[in-house]
Amino acid sequence: MQESAMITIQNNTAKPITQVMVRNIASEVLTYDQKHYKGNKNKTTTIKQITANQQKLAYEFKGDESNILVDLPTSLTPGASTQINVEVQTDVPWRKDRFGYQAIAGGKIYNLSFCFPYLSDYRNGKWNYHPYNDEGENRNLAVSDYQAEIYAPKSYKVVTSGESHTKDGKTTVVAKDVRDFAIVASNKFKVSSTKANGIKINNYYYAGKSAKIYNQLAKQTAVDSIKLFTKKYGPYPYSELDLTESPFGSDTGGMEYSGLVMIAQDTFARKKSASKEDYDSVIENVSHEVAHQWFFNTVGNDEYTEPWLDEGMAEFSEDIIFDLSPINKIPKKYDETDTAYNGGKSFYSLLRYLMGEKKFDQAMRDYYQTYYLKQATGKDFIAIIKKHDNSKAVNDLIKRYISPKYLQ
Ligand SMILES: [Zn+2]
Repeated sequence: MQESAMITIQNNTAKPITQVMVRNIASEVLTYDQKHYKGNKNKTTTIKQITANQQKLAYEFKGDESNILVDLPTSLTPGASTQINVEVQTDVPWRKDRFGYQAIAGGKIYNLSFCFPYLSDYRNGKWNYHPYNDEGENRNLAVSDYQAEIYAPKSYKVVTSGESHTKDGKTTVVAKDVRDFAIVASNKFKVSSTKANGIKINNYYYAGKSAKIYNQLAKQTAVDSIKLFTKKYGPYPYSELDLTESPFGSDTGGMEYSGLVMIAQDTFARKKSASKEDYDSVIENVSHEVAHQWFFNTVGNDEYTEPWLDEGMAEFSEDIIFDLSPINKIPKKYDETDTAYNGGKSFYSLLRYLMGEKKFDQAMRDYYQTYYLKQATGKDFIAIIKKHDNSKAVNDLIKRYISPKYLQ
């Protein structure tokens, strides 16, 4: 995969900037794949060059090769903008995952994410980056506008974040205000579309014995999720949402990107006929991944240090809001070994119980509106909750679940 990323950088800080950090997470993913997956021993990513106005720029790696500190040709003063061009050659691993390709339905699918160079998030006076975690996430991205041109064989349907059009093997993309960009391409995709609140939902799936029901169920769950989460939290920022049937090898439910979710269960495209459990997990996975459009993609957070904000909220939205759990019951105890998912969900459920549905919903809408297309921390979330309910019960709950270091 030949990648050429022109990155426009604006200095929004009060000080001049002489270096910027570009992240190429593919480097860490491929290092992991070389070790853990057969057939990927020689898969690498190489920086061909980094330039500004055709002039080569010096760079150095920080920690590992996924963190690239680039010297700007001249110091960037506050408010000023510049452009750098990052050219990378990246192999796509043979792997059923968010970055990889696999054989499917007599053809192929390419899940392309965690593999495009991007400008790291600069926050609180430093570049933020974290080590790769194959089971979790380590992206540090600010919301940006993307324009892309993708070249693929004509037999492939190319699905991306934002709005795209394909003609003669060239896909042109405009994606405004997106936090992360992903591409999924397959030469066997079927597509079926519907609408919810004026938003176009495109479901990409494979032919097969249970395909018709899978398609209806995935679309209906997306429609219901969009309607429900819009009512509860606030508006979805984009005009489209794409769902791709993108099997992963593990028991992962899917993966979220702005305007695109991969639905990862490894069943429908391969099984002769689906079971009730398979259908149940379509509902769980689609509602969870669509909830991430609200929490992570629209209201961002650091998904490495505070996953309870995005994963906890997606899990809560899937299990409590989507399933219409009654408010008058004390939520049952969850397995707290999995802190980000279940600890987070349990915390939000108890918070909703203590505050009452009306006050909780008001606080959530306030949180969503305040940090819409921005980034929040745990401390920001707690401040909004306390603004709406500063009772002893709520404060005690916060103390019980969240380390005081977030509340300073
Ligand atoms: Zn999730």
